[in-house]
Amino acid sequence: MSAMIDSGNVRRRTKIVATLGPSTDDGAVLREVIRAGTNVLRLNFSHGTDEQHVARIHAARRIARELDRDVALLGDLQGPKIRIQRFANGPVHLRDDATFVIDTGHDPDGGNEEIVGTTYTELPHDLDVGDTLMINDGRIQLEVTAIEGSRVVSRVIVGGELSDNKGINRQGGGLSATALTEKDKRDIITAAGQDLDYVAISFPRGAEDVQDARRLLRTAGGDGLIVAKIERAEAIENIDSILQVSDAVMVARGDLGVEIGDAELPGVQKDLISRARAAHRIVITATQMMESMIESPIPTRAEVLDVANAVIDGTDAVMLSQETAMGRHPVKVIEAVARVCMGAERRRETRISSHRIDAKFERSDEAIAMSTMYCANHLDVAAIFALTESGSTALWMSRIRSGIPIFALTRHEGTRRRATLYRGVYPVEFDVLQAEPGRVGEYVVSQMLKMGVIEKGDRIIFTRGDLSGISGGTNTMKIVVA
Ligand code: PGA
Ligand code: MN
Repeated sequence: MSAMIDSGNVRRRTKIVATLGPSTDDGAVLREVIRAGTNVLRLNFSHGTDEQHVARIHAARRIARELDRDVALLGDLQGPKIRIQRFANGPVHLRDDATFVIDTGHDPDGGNEEIVGTTYTELPHDLDVGDTLMINDGRIQLEVTAIEGSRVVSRVIVGGELSDNKGINRQGGGLSATALTEKDKRDIITAAGQDLDYVAISFPRGAEDVQDARRLLRTAGGDGLIVAKIERAEAIENIDSILQVSDAVMVARGDLGVEIGDAELPGVQKDLISRARAAHRIVITATQMMESMIESPIPTRAEVLDVANAVIDGTDAVMLSQETAMGRHPVKVIEAVARVCMGAERRRETRISSHRIDAKFERSDEAIAMSTMYCANHLDVAAIFALTESGSTALWMSRIRSGIPIFALTRHEGTRRRATLYRGVYPVEFDVLQAEPGRVGEYVVSQMLKMGVIEKGDRIIFTRGDLSGISGGTNTMKIVVA
C-alpha cells in the first residue's frame, strides 16, 4: 500500500481515530470517512454484538484495500464501567435534596424515583459516608449519607432526569473494580482472532491491569499494541509505571473529567501528552472533540480551538466517538478535524523541538533516530526515510517535534498499519531486500521519485541497518540529494 498523501505538498501530521457505528455501516459512507483522512478505525466494544464488530472489521479492511490506504483497527474494551440498572416506568426525575438509594440487591428492572439497582456488587464496600457520586457524567450528583448492607443511601445534590443504565463515578476515584471483566476477556479473544492492530484497556488503575491485558492478548495469539485509557484518578498517580508497560495512552477525557473535575483536565491533558512523548509512547486525545457535530454540520469555535490545542500540545491523534459512530455528519467531521489539525500544524511551535536536548540514549538505533531529527530540523531537508522492520525508529523520530515528513519504509503490513497512528509518520510499502547490496540509497531515491514523494534535487535523509531485514539494527544515517 502507498503512503497516505494529502493534496499538495503539505501532509497532515496529526492522525485521526474515528469510531465505527451505525452511521458508518453504509459502505459508501465508510469509504468517504476513510478517504477524508481517517488513519485508525475504532471498534467500541461497549456497544454492539460480536457479529457486528466482525462485519465492521471486514468492511473496513476491504474498503481500505480498495482505496490502497493503510488503516489501523483499534478495539476498545468496555472495562468495568459501573452503571445503575433500569427503571420500571421509564426515566425518573430526581429532586434536589430528595433521598435516593442505589441497592445492589434491587430488582434490575424495578427502579423508581427512590431506588435503583446496580451491576457493581462491591459498591457499598468501596464508598464512605460523605462521598460524592457522579451519575451520567456528573449531570446528577449524590452525596452518600449512609451505607446499610447492600444499600447506598444518598441525598440528591444536583437533581434532574435519570434514565436506564447510566454510568456511576466516584468523585476523586477509588472504586476498586478490576480493569478486566469477563466480557473484556472474551473481547480480547475476538481482538486476537481478528488480528486488531491496537487494543485499548478501559479504566486501568495501574501497570498490572495493563500487563494482565497484554498477557491475555498474547496468549490468545494477538500481537496488537496496547493502549491504556487514562480515565481514573489512580491512573494519573500511577502514570509513570503505566507508560512503562503500555505502547500508547489515551487521554480519555469523558470519565477522567468526571473523576478529577473539569478544572484539572486541561493541565492533566498537557502533562499526559508531554510525558507520553518523553517516554517514547504514542498518545491519543479523546472525547467530545467535535461533540456538536453529532448534529451540526460545522463545529463550534470552542471545538475548533480544542482540537487545535491538542495538536499544539503534541498529541499523535485526535479521536472521534459518537461524532462518527452515531452522528449525522460522519464525513464532514473528519474533514473538519483534518482541516483544523493542518491549520494548527502551521504554528511554528508544533515543528520546533527542545525535547530530550540533554537526555542520554540507551540504544544505537535510538541515537540514530534522534540525530536524524536534529539534523533534519537544522538543515534544509525535504523528507526522512526510515527503513524499518518494527517501526521503532520511525516512532522515536516522531517523538521529536518537526515539520518534516517521516516515511516508514517497510515490507511488513502490520508495521505499516501500526505506524499510521504515529504523528508525522507515513507508512510506505517497501522491500529493502529488492535493493542491490551496497546500493540501498539509490534504490530508496529511485523508488521515492517514482512515487512522487520527493523531487529531483531534494535533499533527504535515510536511516538503515547494515543487516537489512533485522529488527533493532538501525545504525546508519545518510544525507543524499535525489
Ligand atoms: P469511552 O472512553 O468513550 O469508552 O467512555 C473515553 C472517555 O471516557 O473519554
Ligand atoms: Mn471512558
